[in-house]
Amino acid sequence: PTTKQDFDAEALYRALLEQVRAGLADVPDAAIVGIHSGGAWLAERLAGDLDLKSRLGFIDVSFYRDDYAKKGLHPDVKPTHIGFNVDGATILLVDDVLYTGRTTRAAINVLFDYGRPACIKLAALADRGGRELPVAPDFVGVTTTLEGAQLLSLARDASGQLSLTIEEDN
Ligand code: 5GP
Ligand code: MG
Repeated sequence: PTTKQDFDAEALYRALLEQVRAGLADVPDAAIVGIHSGGAWLAERLAGDLDLKSRLGFIDVSFYRDDYAKKGLHPDVKPTHIGFNVDGATILLVDDVLYTGRTTRAAINVLFDYGRPACIKLAALADRGGRELPVAPDFVGVTTTLEGAQLLSLARDASGQLSLTIEEDN
């Protein structure tokens, strides 16, 4: 059977925002980088709420993922754009859902192609477990504890309101 669980994604976002606000409070030169595509609009929203729109970047890791060939991903390639100086910057890397950690690993690689950051922090709206690399979020909206195979569906309506549904096969 499949179990479905609905989350208040707006509440998760607000919780994430407050964690990030507190975590970056002492960082004068923070920058935000979203991972296409789910992390991109999340990063954009965080940058708006934190007044960091001038230090907002985007990364597409489709070609950098180590399992690119294996998964046969159909990359809907969007440009990687980093418009700030990465050297010495504290960068908040943002993704919507954290799973194996391979996307995060690839995104860190991309950032290092641009320079040497002072620090990289990781934010995700949802952590679904299943890590295959030593990656952990610094800021997270919700950590799911489901045992079976799961799929997290994250959506935005026309007004930008978030919704999150988790389906679990058990
Ligand atoms: P990872 O690379 O950590 O295995 O997977 C994370 C990436 O895949 C993120 O960019 C995320 O958007 C996507 N992803 C992985 N699992 C899910 C999921 O259950 N739901 C959604 N919406 N995205 C996922
Ligand atoms: Mg993604």
